[in-house]
Amino acid sequence: MSGDKVGVMDTDGPVLIDPRQFARARSHFAAIFPAASLSRLEDVLASSEGSVQVLVDGHLDAYDRPSLRVVIKGCVELACRRCLAPMAITVALGRELSFVEGLSEFEPSAEQEGDDRDVLPLVAQLDLRELLEEEILLTLPMAPSHGPGKCPNRVEVSSVRGDGTRVAVFSKLGEMLSAVPGGDAGDSGIREKKNAGD
Ligand SMILES: [Zn+2]
Repeated sequence: MSGDKVGVMDTDGPVLIDPRQFARARSHFAAIFPAASLSRLEDVLASSEGSVQVLVDGHLDAYDRPSLRVVIKGCVELACRRCLAPMAITVALGRELSFVEGLSEFEPSAEQEGDDRDVLPLVAQLDLRELLEEEILLTLPMAPSHGPGKCPNRVEVSSVRGDGTRVAVFSKLGEMLSAVPGGDAGDSGIREKKNAGD
């Protein structure tokens, strides 16, 4: 079996591999996916700005299972949940994916694997692009934001010195928002039911 390498090829379409063969041949795949080509992230991304660099190394893990070492680095834009303006989000992840034949829903070994390791069912053909896009999706923040008082739109409004009323309204709103309780992990919001009698 030759150590075939899947190089930087057509990065817009699917990248089909046989995981078992890819792992045994210790094949490599390296590519740059422009944000615009990430079709599974289309609904999530705020713009087509940015790209991600992907590196995949095939090998057999300690249990002789076909495995992929995946490294993804790059930057894409998501919409800020406060002001909806695009904001740059850094993508940086490294994962170890091992393939198991006849994987059951509750694979006992999966729990021992740790956070940077996944166990997937072994299939004859796998779309690397789909797999990588799913990994990127999982790593993106659910509700990104510029942070309290840091949205660019807000800065614009408060810098309008001529309209004192508007500035006052927005600063008042800011006070109200920061005064809203929440995120406080104290016992005020949560009532624990103690069933000590059982
Ligand atoms: Zn914002």
